[in-house]
Amino acid sequence: MKILVTGGAGFIGSAVVRLAVSRGHSVVNLDALTYAACLANVTPVADNPLYAFEQADIRDRPALDSVFDAHQPDIVMHLAAESHVDRSIDGPGDFIKSNITGTFSMLETARKYWVERGKPNGFRFHHISTDEVFGSLPADPAMLFTEDTPYDPRSPYSASKASSDHLVRAWHETYGLPVVLSNCSNNYGPYHFPEKLIPVVILNTLAGKSLPIYGDGSNIRDWLYVEDHADALLLLATQGKVGRSYNIGGENERTNLELVKTICQILDRLKPRAHGTYADLITFVTDRPGHDARYAIDPSRIRDELGWRPSVTVEEGLERTVRWYLENEDWWRPLLARKGVGQRLGADQKP
Ligand code: NAD
Repeated sequence: MKILVTGGAGFIGSAVVRLAVSRGHSVVNLDALTYAACLANVTPVADNPLYAFEQADIRDRPALDSVFDAHQPDIVMHLAAESHVDRSIDGPGDFIKSNITGTFSMLETARKYWVERGKPNGFRFHHISTDEVFGSLPADPAMLFTEDTPYDPRSPYSASKASSDHLVRAWHETYGLPVVLSNCSNNYGPYHFPEKLIPVVILNTLAGKSLPIYGDGSNIRDWLYVEDHADALLLLATQGKVGRSYNIGGENERTNLELVKTICQILDRLKPRAHGTYADLITFVTDRPGHDARYAIDPSRIRDELGWRPSVTVEEGLERTVRWYLENEDWWRPLLARKGVGQRLGADQKP
């Protein structure tokens, strides 16, 4: 199977690339290498003959045509996007361009390619999206996002992803393009860019800096280990039903405060402070505008249809993640110097 992965130099895309190559798939990684990209994320497979890299922007139709023609993918997994909620609030323009216009270009390129090749059976365009398109849930644990939950995006990021989801569905209904969609909860794990909540917490504790938490820390998120997400995505790309959406979640709901305290406890054990505990560094900062109260996923469709479940609890995944950051300073240290990242350390709260 030859898979074209867009955004394969990012956090989740690189996990997909590493897993797909390790399972014997040929992978073409198409990425524009924005500020959020890091080719070191794919170092483990960089010399593997199954792996190829193409630097291209998903808005560049001629470049996309060349990549499709050169590599003839059986499956497209579309992850390339601007992904950071706080950046979307500060400057939404890039989110509209990459997430909406970029997805339109990908759909048109894929449609032309699929038609010119006689609409081969088995071709799939898998669009990877977020649970944030569904808006915000009340605290009631019985209320979960299902695939039928109406869209109610509330940030420029989630609105741009909701738009892209609608485009993908329209290309299926209108042109018959064989698509699969998935909407996932918050990911965490190795290679997570150091302006996102969990790396910020780990790196701030190591630097003895404060651990800023938006509002009172009661916002609830569902957390999924990135390698479990990559496993679910490969399953959906190869076995998901055409035209269908799947919600993917970890069944690991935690308040932001609980999450940060768990990371502190892991670090207290692995790298004790000289005085006090890491939780002493927690501070509460002014809440983000429009901060969604709760996201929670009902993953029963992917579980019942395809037998998928997450393999680790959030405590196990967090311990693996903390150990990875402790052992991989060579990876994260240079990223702190990138434009805007240093300033955001300590202020951001959203993966
Ligand atoms: P990321 O920011 O770590 O990586 C995005 C990658 O896309 C980067 O390598 C970047 O260079 C590339 N990219 C951005 N714009 C591009 C363009 N115009 N052309 C080509 N490449 C471009 O993002 P991530 O956290 O790995 O998220 C990947 C996908 O998964 C996104 O579509 C996101 O909406 C979705 N998602 C993320 C989460 C999460 O918790 N991080 C949860 C659910 C869904």
